[in-house]
Amino acid sequence: MLDIRSDLSNRDFVAALPKVELHVHIEGAIEPVTLFEIADRNKIELPYDSPEGVLAYQSDRRGAGRENLVSFLECLDISRDALRTPDDYRTITVEFLSRCGREGVRYVEVMFDPQQAIRQGVSFGDCVDAIADGRRVGWRDFGVRSQAIMCFQRDHDPEQASRLIEAADTHRDDIVGIGLDNFETPGFPAMFRAAYDQARQREYRLTSHCDVNQPDSADHIRACIEVLRVERIDHGLNVIDDPALLDLVLERDIALTGCPTYYTGQASSAEIRLEMHRSLLAAGACISLNTDDPAQFGSGWLSNTIWSAMEAAPFTRADIVRFTQNAIDAAWIDEAHRRELTTELRAFSGGYGEASVPAG
Ligand SMILES: [Zn+2]
Repeated sequence: MLDIRSDLSNRDFVAALPKVELHVHIEGAIEPVTLFEIADRNKIELPYDSPEGVLAYQSDRRGAGRENLVSFLECLDISRDALRTPDDYRTITVEFLSRCGREGVRYVEVMFDPQQAIRQGVSFGDCVDAIADGRRVGWRDFGVRSQAIMCFQRDHDPEQASRLIEAADTHRDDIVGIGLDNFETPGFPAMFRAAYDQARQREYRLTSHCDVNQPDSADHIRACIEVLRVERIDHGLNVIDDPALLDLVLERDIALTGCPTYYTGQASSAEIRLEMHRSLLAAGACISLNTDDPAQFGSGWLSNTIWSAMEAAPFTRADIVRFTQNAIDAAWIDEAHRRELTTELRAFSGGYGEASVPAG
């Protein structure tokens, strides 16, 4: 058996690791070359000279002292604004899953924003169908299984979210869960209570973003758990700042989808944020490592994300195996699929990582 302690460099270890991703936005996973192709066919003018200029532009924004969620979403808007047809959604889904195949990702839950699609002239049904079609290609051609999470934007009309949940009844098999993303607006969980009640009645799995160090972060996380009754929080690192909230997260087995490279690459407080990941792992929280928006700010695809976090934190290989098992444990899949992924991870790690972290 491969000895992961000695036979591989950290980079090779992460590349060979059978990976699972639970927090990635399809609109944030558009490769610059693809973005140019799509913008060209839709006659959209981009603020970049070339595909190489995408990262340079983003870095410029970052360097202008705007290291925050707002500047991040402004850059994301430029990419997702180019999407104008169902074929655009199909293209980016196929390309993303092709990339996942090359990254050694076995299973991914990919988020999409139907409100964004509708604003850009792609109907709800066409958007869902295009992503579902792309996902079938991803499994057939690249061996990557995936499911889709429909996200509503927290700064947009909650009643539109309710209407879309009803519209999704004819696409139920193509959507596994419901989430909330985009700008974190004050007191957002209460506004989406009715939509989440509808989603729960339809047996969707439930998650919500709670971004890091936002105003009222802990209150938002608590309300997502108690009012929206989510089973997962995307980011949610501020759980570690509030012992009572941490107890609630552990007691209810709420999963957290951390996104470390966004922070190592962008934030001035990267070390503190990586330490939040470490503390949550050590506390036994079901936290995983994910890319979020891999084409933004050079965040990198999943192998690079995990490797960068591993080097910067630093995390041990046992920690990385534990983060990966957490992703498998939190995935919205059936138990046979979960056993299959767990068996592969254990065969890879030889059980290494099982004993060095306290059980959650
Ligand atoms: Zn996200």
